[in-house]
Amino acid sequence: MSMLDVSVKKLYGVGAVRASAYAKMGITTVADLISHYPRGYENRGDVRLLSETDEQTKSSVVLVVATEPRVARIKGRMTLLKFKAYDDSGTCEITYFNQDYLKSSFALGSVFRFYGRVGRTRNGYSMSSPVYEPFDEKTPLAPLVPVYPLTEGISQKQIAKDMRAAWSLASCSAESSDFLPEDILKKHSLCTRSFALRQIHSPESFALLAKAKKRLIFDELFTFALGMSLVGSKPQRGSAPRCEDTDISALEAMLPYSLTNAQKRAIADIKRDMSDSVAMNRMIIGDVGCGKTVCAAAAIYIAVKNGLQAALMAPTEILAAQHFGDLSAMLEKLGVRCALLVGSMTASQKSKVHALCASGEIDVVVGTQALISEGVSFARAGLVVADEQHRFGVGQRALLAEKSSLSHMLVMSATPIPRTLALTMYGNLDVSRIDELPPGRQRVDTFVVDESYRPRLNAFIEKQILLGGQVYIVCPAVEVSEDEEADLLMSDLDGEGAIRVTAPLKSAVGYSAELSEIFPQYKVAFLHGKMRAKEKDSIMREFSEGNINILVSTTVIEVGVNVPSACLMIVENADRFGLSQLHQLRGRVGRGVKKSYCVLVSEAVASEGKTKQRLMTMKDCYDGFEIAERDLLMRGPGDFLKGNSDDTVRQSGGVRFRLAELCVDAELLNIAFDEAKVLLNKSPELLEYPDLAKEVTRMFTLEAGTIN
Ligand code: ADP
Ligand code: MG
Repeated sequence: MSMLDVSVKKLYGVGAVRASAYAKMGITTVADLISHYPRGYENRGDVRLLSETDEQTKSSVVLVVATEPRVARIKGRMTLLKFKAYDDSGTCEITYFNQDYLKSSFALGSVFRFYGRVGRTRNGYSMSSPVYEPFDEKTPLAPLVPVYPLTEGISQKQIAKDMRAAWSLASCSAESSDFLPEDILKKHSLCTRSFALRQIHSPESFALLAKAKKRLIFDELFTFALGMSLVGSKPQRGSAPRCEDTDISALEAMLPYSLTNAQKRAIADIKRDMSDSVAMNRMIIGDVGCGKTVCAAAAIYIAVKNGLQAALMAPTEILAAQHFGDLSAMLEKLGVRCALLVGSMTASQKSKVHALCASGEIDVVVGTQALISEGVSFARAGLVVADEQHRFGVGQRALLAEKSSLSHMLVMSATPIPRTLALTMYGNLDVSRIDELPPGRQRVDTFVVDESYRPRLNAFIEKQILLGGQVYIVCPAVEVSEDEEADLLMSDLDGEGAIRVTAPLKSAVGYSAELSEIFPQYKVAFLHGKMRAKEKDSIMREFSEGNINILVSTTVIEVGVNVPSACLMIVENADRFGLSQLHQLRGRVGRGVKKSYCVLVSEAVASEGKTKQRLMTMKDCYDGFEIAERDLLMRGPGDFLKGNSDDTVRQSGGVRFRLAELCVDAELLNIAFDEAKVLLNKSPELLEYPDLAKEVTRMFTLEAGTIN
């Protein structure tokens, strides 16, 4: 569909202003526009008599204009246009505001289909500013009218018009061939893509709409399956240096605790893998706080003992710094030389680390993933460890796979990836599961509250601080501009369709200022990803040393950080976060002896809806795996696939399905994976299927684009 890769500006009537509004929704090309699917349909084809309508829902009625429209002037500038129209069941008074130019449209005796709410009056019915379409028996009107997700500056009418223009361009396009192989279409009775696209935008009936949806959902799932299989199958098991000496008793002796059985099992797996000349390719999955870091330390220690170098990569600088601190505390006493490599270091500091790595004078380098995968070369590379692996995007995972081609690779994930997805994402990885927490861990009591609890919540904050505890408050945004706020409201409408979050978004910067006024006696600070790394570090250090009482932050603190005296985690606008993310955040408290709490604040709690139900899961579920499974069921895989989101509130980073829902479409997902396997066997690089390859790139580049 290369003709459709032109800018939307090429469409008649689309200028710079509207194009930039489209860009806000991620639409830049005509092809993008065509894959901007309606979020619902108005069932205007269901025409009723006035007497059959109900006041609550919008209805379609076909009426004959019975009186000449009259314009009345009210309140200075305001005008009212009124006329009567009838059907067999009664008469309806129709009103339009400030649209007197419509006067000539409604000629006496002409027939229209009106769509809107039909009210009841003393002697009949009324409609206010209904949608109107001239009605003519011979040329039937569209039965289902699409309703698109919008953003400021674009109306339904405009987008419908642009969509028509896009279609006329599409039908001029010679290459309207389908990107799915014919046999797949036949085998699973799928309609053609162009038919599906037409029906999704202007369905002729519900039955055809359903057919269209099935095809488009399959396309998403198939593209997804191809992408995942391509990425997942990349790291061929290469060879890696054998580590003969896998004795870690010296390391164990230094630990202030004894390893759990689950940790011992994971470390035994690592020893077995590393003593082989086939590269280790292992993932350690375990809930927050289960103690994965020490397993990584064991692997690193083994590598170094055998004369190899190791790299540990973390998704954020804060976490990298923390790992560096922990590891060097453990390993330097054993003669292991560690170095840190993060973006905030000066160029000369960085090049010094590079040089020491290249010459082999450093055994372990700890840093952010981006920095290590880009620029470091090793004298004796042997092991690559990636922490919080799920936070890396697909693109980054591919890079990582390349980087570690002649090394052992160990990845660790704290957000337990649901079994269903883990298989598809990491099919060729060996998995060690740490299914046991160190003894004596407490359960973090969790509450879900709305705004009316604010005074009590503030009192609770104070109480915890007086008891010597520290408080995290997580906000969904750094700073909220009005524009962004409107955007977020829109994207929410699009995403869930169920709720419109009217609560203003709390921002880390703004809310910390507010809190400083409420609690002048305490030290309040904020932290977010847009701050300079040095500032972040110093804030984090101050907090872990207990000099800050309340830390207002974005999700930068989501991964890994360890502050034992933090005992209260409050998440604002909690409905904006995925459950697994909330579980991660909750894992930031309850790390010490203090009784710890997690409070989720959301306006969605006031209404009985999907969102409330989702949040309530956190109250009775403390198992990260179960939460991840439930999250997958309720929200789709976006959260598991997105890249390092750090502060990006908009979750555009990950693969988001437009139509597919994995729980509902599980059967189709399986088919998609099966077919993807078959196709990739025939055409491992998709060279014979350029359109499909393009589609895969399109689905996954959004994410790759978030590499930082
Ligand atoms: P995660 O798996 O989330 O990365 P960490 O490795 O950061 O967890 O460990 C969390 C905390 O638990 C750390 O403070 C660590 O020292 C401690 N820890 C790890 N293993 C044990 C153990 N076997 N017994 C007691 N504490 C442990
Ligand atoms: Mg960790």
